[in-house]
Amino acid sequence: MRKILFGRPIIGDEERNAVQKVLQGTMLVHGPIAKEFEADFASYTGANAAVSVSSCTAGLHLCYFDMGLKAGDEVIVPAQTHVATAHAVELCGAKPVFVDAEIKSGNIDIDKIEERITSRTKAISVVHFLGLPVAMDKVCAIAEKHGLKVIEDCALAIGGRYKGRHVGLWGDAGAYSFYPVKHITTAEGGVVITKHEDLAKRLVHKKAFGVDRNVTERKEPGIYDVTDLGFNYRMNELQAAIGIEQMKRIDGFLEKRKANFEALYAGLEGVEGITLFEKAGEDFTNSYYCFSMILNEDIRQDRSKLVKFINDQGVGTSVYYPSPVPYFTYYKEKYPVTGDEFPVASAISYGSIALPVAPHLDIEDMEYIVEVVKKGLKEVF
Ligand SMILES: *Cc1c(COP(=O)(O)O)cnc(C)c1O
Repeated sequence: MRKILFGRPIIGDEERNAVQKVLQGTMLVHGPIAKEFEADFASYTGANAAVSVSSCTAGLHLCYFDMGLKAGDEVIVPAQTHVATAHAVELCGAKPVFVDAEIKSGNIDIDKIEERITSRTKAISVVHFLGLPVAMDKVCAIAEKHGLKVIEDCALAIGGRYKGRHVGLWGDAGAYSFYPVKHITTAEGGVVITKHEDLAKRLVHKKAFGVDRNVTERKEPGIYDVTDLGFNYRMNELQAAIGIEQMKRIDGFLEKRKANFEALYAGLEGVEGITLFEKAGEDFTNSYYCFSMILNEDIRQDRSKLVKFINDQGVGTSVYYPSPVPYFTYYKEKYPVTGDEFPVASAISYGSIALPVAPHLDIEDMEYIVEVVKKGLKEVF
């Protein structure tokens, strides 16, 4: 029996040596390494600026905070996403207004955005679900028509492009995550990319207490002024050192994910009992975070039996995500819902199983997974 983990960070001697080198020096924060990582990330994505942060959640929050988002304001948020996409809005005291997903991709249903826009709406947020880009030109057209900002949650989408432009550069800003099971890792960490250089400058300022000059910029030691409210949302030099090494591997990581994804798709397309999301079309460059299959309605209630069967054969699985965000207890209690407002997000949350395609796995692993899933569908139902 194979032992196939859903996700695993790939850390080698390069990363370990890079961290050692930082530890031998005296600069653990504010040094040149985070700047170098930012430059690498900007160059890879084609962004005018990249601002390293302590997590994707911190990056999203920082963007809304800079926007001056406050109580009484609203932001359009996809119902099918990581809770961080909504929490970032909520943390500013504003209200996330949820929009259901579309079944062919799991991304926000763009046709349902406009009906949720009110005079209080300040921004539209999207998530590039499982790495498949949202049709951003359509989202940006709606935003422009109503004078709204656009914030992209790109946590699962490094390498994702729509019409050739990297995700995160269609809207005002895009936030990435380097949590261990994402495409690349810095243990914890994130980055915000943007085409607006002035926005990047403000984020740099506000991610570090709103002080007017950081340690390396002070003429007289210890002397600075505080010109804004701000956080401590910095990425440290150890994290950035890992990030620089991980960026050197990104093309290889993405190739491997694509090959693994294609192998699962070829093996499971047309299999009875499950539906797959549409594959990337011409305009959509997927970053293949994972492979998700939705069980048909008649067998959905027994999903955990199939999950157990697959896990018992040594294959790790996950669920993206375990509930539509508006149905999580915190949101449900604050913004009452009846439970049938988000049928597509519900079908994905309660009826899908995510299978691994990450670069620690190869084609033989995929062949084994296909076999196990097919067998499970026959034996469990
Ligand atoms: C993982 C994830 C986040 C959170 O990222 P952190 O770096 O852990 O804050 C946010 N959004 C999405 C879509 C994610 O998958």
